[in-house]
Amino acid sequence: MPVNYAKRRRSFRKLCKAAGADSALVTNETNVRYLTGFTGDSSFLWFDDKREWLLTDSRYTVQLSQECPDLELISRDSKINIWQLAARTLGKAGTKKLALETHHLTKQNYDQLVDALPQVTPVPTSGLVEQLRAIKDKSELATIKKAIAIAERSFAVIRSQLTEQQTEIQIAHNLEHQIRAFGGSRCAFDPIVGVGKNGALPHGRPSADSRIGDAPFVLIDWGAQYDGYASDLTRILVTARISPKLRKVYNLVLQAQLAAIGQIRDGAKLADVDRAARKTIEDGGFGKRFGHGLGHGFGLQIHESPFLTPTATGVLKTGMVITIEPGIYLPTWGGVRIEDDVLVTEDGFEVLTSAPKEIDQCVVSMC
Ligand code: ZN
Ligand code: ZN
Repeated sequence: MPVNYAKRRRSFRKLCKAAGADSALVTNETNVRYLTGFTGDSSFLWFDDKREWLLTDSRYTVQLSQECPDLELISRDSKINIWQLAARTLGKAGTKKLALETHHLTKQNYDQLVDALPQVTPVPTSGLVEQLRAIKDKSELATIKKAIAIAERSFAVIRSQLTEQQTEIQIAHNLEHQIRAFGGSRCAFDPIVGVGKNGALPHGRPSADSRIGDAPFVLIDWGAQYDGYASDLTRILVTARISPKLRKVYNLVLQAQLAAIGQIRDGAKLADVDRAARKTIEDGGFGKRFGHGLGHGFGLQIHESPFLTPTATGVLKTGMVITIEPGIYLPTWGGVRIEDDVLVTEDGFEVLTSAPKEIDQCVVSMC
């Protein structure tokens, strides 16, 4: 699906105007990609009312002319760096009030640029492109759905091939292999594979010493990257009889997840959605065992705006794609987290992920 980058830049321009700027320099690599389609690095986007320039170097001129044919390129040679090119170019352009992505700039780079442009008034901004990125357009949604499909297919394969002897790290490698085999570019992040109590570490690293057969269940948190976009899921696979404790903890997490998903709609407060899950877990007696936020937006980055936490102040908006991932972690026993990807719609939600999640569906009969 073709992407309308010019439309994205128009939206960004409006935000910059509202912030009091008549021009902007976008220096964050992901934001440059979102606004232009350029997939390389070390390149900045500058624009004012009349002109749009990509500042880059000679390595990227061919790639840029293919990926961003509608933008004028200004290329540096190896004698100057990108910041010096920006200072030189903007000085000549006569720019006056310049929006800068202050939250992505080091003090050194900011000072270097501002000191070299005495006639320019810097307009510090924070999170303007991220604000746009939080709302996914049709092409982004199609890409995210593909990233989800690849992740789910890959998971189905590793699930069908599970054996007692496999180590956490073998499963993580196999996931990466399947994701690439199904057309993904890579994992969206290093997969988490936690057998038994290893699953109680929300961001544990897979180990070569822990085997599937060491405990009755394993937590797997994985995602695929496709055309720059991520997916992000977590499932528990049960490899032995379901103990009453596992059934109880699992069903409480599932109930919490469904309660939160039920709150999702345009205008819902982020903190209220988090609250719905947290209250369910608290009422079930495990409040202290759910220590992280409920979920996050994702897209070109695995964690991006909005963030669903108890203290979040914003609201959900139509077109946001978020994870809902409550968990209960008992250090000596294990962790249960269930994570799905959900699209916010005007009157509710659409759950984009479809891997089975009733506990009886998570039981694997191993080869
Ligand atoms: Zn995850
Ligand atoms: Zn996540």
